[in-house]
Amino acid sequence: MTKSNVVQIVHFQDDNRVFVDMADDVDNPCLSCGACCQHFRVSMYMGEMASSPCGTVPDEMVSAINPLMVCMKGTEAGHGRCIALRGTVGEPGIRCEIYSQRPSPCREYRVWSEDGTPNPDCQRLRKAIGLQPLRRGVATAA
Ligand code: SF4
Ligand code: SF4
Repeated sequence: MTKSNVVQIVHFQDDNRVFVDMADDVDNPCLSCGACCQHFRVSMYMGEMASSPCGTVPDEMVSAINPLMVCMKGTEAGHGRCIALRGTVGEPGIRCEIYSQRPSPCREYRVWSEDGTPNPDCQRLRKAIGLQPLRRGVATAA
């Protein structure tokens, strides 16, 4: 089992969504994984694009899905690598180039659940690329 003491920081949104930030720390398991960033179609409303009043995601990094929705380039059909992912999946140094600007699906996807148990979906994706499962983690509310 891989041990991780990294603090997962939880942000409760006005619309009841829960966003999560991971510390930029050597114990952050995402910084040697990246499995979820090459698995899902990462889709969002166009309002999350930087060209929208409250958006953050760089326009040039998204593809149109329909008149209201876009997704991260590379993830259009699922099982594709997101354009913002840098480094080698499963190896130290992998990272999101737009972490502070990433879209809401990425902010909502979490390593640990409310009770500190690892997200089974995250565990499954880690296992699929040959990484060890994670132990219980720690979450704090911002
Ligand atoms: S699969 Fe889990 S550990 Fe890997 S990058 Fe995604 S959230 Fe982080
Ligand atoms: S935007 Fe960043 S966190 Fe989201 S899928 Fe792409 S690389 Fe991963």
